[in-house]
Amino acid sequence: MTTVSNAEYRGVWVFIEQVAGEPAPVSWELLGAGRQLADALEVELAGVLLGQGVAGLVSEAWAYGADRVYLVEDPVLGPYRTAPYARALVELVQRYRPEILLLGATSLGRDLSGAVATALGTGLTADCTGLNIDPATRLLEQTRPAFGGNVMATILCQRHRPQMATVRPRVMPLPPRQEGRQGELVRVGIALKEEEALATVLKVIEEKGKAIYLDRAEIIVAGGRGLGSRENLRLLEELAGVLGGTLGASRAAVEAGWLPPEYQVGQTGITVRPKVYFAIGISGAIQHLVGMQNSEVIVAINKDPEAPIFKVATYGIIGDFQEVVPALTEEFRRQLAARSA
Ligand SMILES: Cc1cc2nc3c(=O)[nH]c(=O)nc-3n(C[C@H](O)[C@H](O)[C@H](O)COP(=O)(O)OP(=O)(O)OC[C@H]3O[C@@H](n4cnc5c(N)ncnc54)[C@H](O)[C@@H]3O)c2cc1C
Repeated sequence: MTTVSNAEYRGVWVFIEQVAGEPAPVSWELLGAGRQLADALEVELAGVLLGQGVAGLVSEAWAYGADRVYLVEDPVLGPYRTAPYARALVELVQRYRPEILLLGATSLGRDLSGAVATALGTGLTADCTGLNIDPATRLLEQTRPAFGGNVMATILCQRHRPQMATVRPRVMPLPPRQEGRQGELVRVGIALKEEEALATVLKVIEEKGKAIYLDRAEIIVAGGRGLGSRENLRLLEELAGVLGGTLGASRAAVEAGWLPPEYQVGQTGITVRPKVYFAIGISGAIQHLVGMQNSEVIVAINKDPEAPIFKVATYGIIGDFQEVVPALTEEFRRQLAARSA
């Protein structure tokens, strides 16, 4: 086996995730983050696109900042399956040698990244919330919450390449889309065989009515243990209804059975980045904060002035939500009616 020195690995890559031609928005968020890393290293930013009939996404990758796109189109890459996707990505890495490879921490990205990192024998940090370049060493500083979120750990991959990381959707901001921006397209042929795919997709079953897309919501009205009962959710539903927002919950509210788990915001729930986040009867435990502290505006309503949620709140109201929330709902309703009149 020939050994390749780390200096021969150059460039930042982002895996462009798509399912049935539909791109995962986290791919564009990662191109934004990748752009900053590539600029700090003075190297190129490339997207990697695997699939069948997905060439239409190449110009999107350029528009979101990729200098180059490596495209592998093959019928074996039609539906996602671990083995052929991993083999294609491993082979691309071995041929073109990026120093950094980023994937979204979606179920697909988590599955693929583990298979690729083990095949390459390199390091992988899952669920990063921060990525930085150390200018002295050119190493990628991969930061993620550890020990239940009570510690932020910064992890380095010093000796192996590429340095691999997954990042959750909505942790990084979506970069501006630059219409008409051009890049380079590199089509790569990789000999993939259907019989090596190991799995057959028989049927894709869509979960109907369940998807709430909390991570796409612009306004989230989230409740915690302080609500005291499921009935009190009604007040939050009314506020959300007036503002066109979506409900959210702390883990305590989910564990109490007031809302289903897909509403949970936080470290073991969903990371959100709405324009406005209402935290109502939520104390602001670190495991909750890591899932919502990047919201543009945070409104905290809590009767305890010492609650840690007030440290991240843009606006804080100290009081009983049973009085505050109906008053806010009424005032928003009045203001919105006045505006549309
Ligand atoms: C490994 C691990 C992962 C975790 N992951 C998550 C996660 O993803 N998401 C998450 O949320 N948590 C998570 N947790 C749990 C987290 O540590 C907290 O226990 C949880 O966030 C607390 O929820 P809460 O703020 O609703 O409840 P509490 O901490 O009990 O806070 C209730 C708040 O309501 C206020 N209140 C009470 N009555 C009223 C009233 N009438 N009006 C106004 N305010 C009132 C109180 O002052 C208090 O601040 C995790 C924990 C661990 C160990």
